[in-house]
Amino acid sequence: MTLPYRIGHGYDLHRLEPIGEGGLGRPLVLGGVEIEHDRGPVAHSDGDALLHAVTDALLGAIAAPDIGQLFPDDDPRNESEDSKVFLEAAAQAVHAAGYRVGNLDATVICERPKLSPFKDLMRANIAAGLGVEVGCVNLKGKTHEQVDAVGRNEAVEVHCVVLLVRDDA
Ligand code: MG
Repeated sequence: MTLPYRIGHGYDLHRLEPIGEGGLGRPLVLGGVEIEHDRGPVAHSDGDALLHAVTDALLGAIAAPDIGQLFPDDDPRNESEDSKVFLEAAAQAVHAAGYRVGNLDATVICERPKLSPFKDLMRANIAAGLGVEVGCVNLKGKTHEQVDAVGRNEAVEVHCVVLLVRDDA
C-alpha cells in the first residue's frame, strides 16, 4: 500500500417503509441527523444509508472488507446500532493503514423529504466522525424525478467517493 493517494467508492440503498403502527420503517436517519418523515428505512442497524456509503468508500479505498463483512446484518450486536460506530471504525482503519481523508463527495437521492435544511449538520457530523474540516466533506441532495422506486419514495440511495492521502505524502 504505497500509493500517495487512494480513491474509494461507496454505495448504499435502503427501502423506505411507513413508520409507526404496523410499519416496517425505522425513524429516518441520514448523516447522523434524524429527520421527521412519514417513511423510514428497513434496516438491521439504524439504517443511515449516507453513513453506510461513506463507510464503504473509506473501506474500499484501503481495500478492506466492506461494511457488510465487518458488521453483518445477522449479528445481534449491530441491531439498531448507531451507524456512527461503523463510520468511526472505518476512519480508524484508514488511519491504521497510514492514510488520512483528503476529501469526500456524496450524493443522496430521495424523492422526499427535502434534504437542504439538514445538509450542513450532516456534513458537520461526517467531518467530526472522520476528524477532518467540514470543508473536506461535500454533500448533494437529488430527487429521482418520480422515476422508479426511488422516485416513488420507496427507497433512499447514496453514492460516495473519497480520496485518501498517505500520511507522509
Ligand atoms: Mg445500509
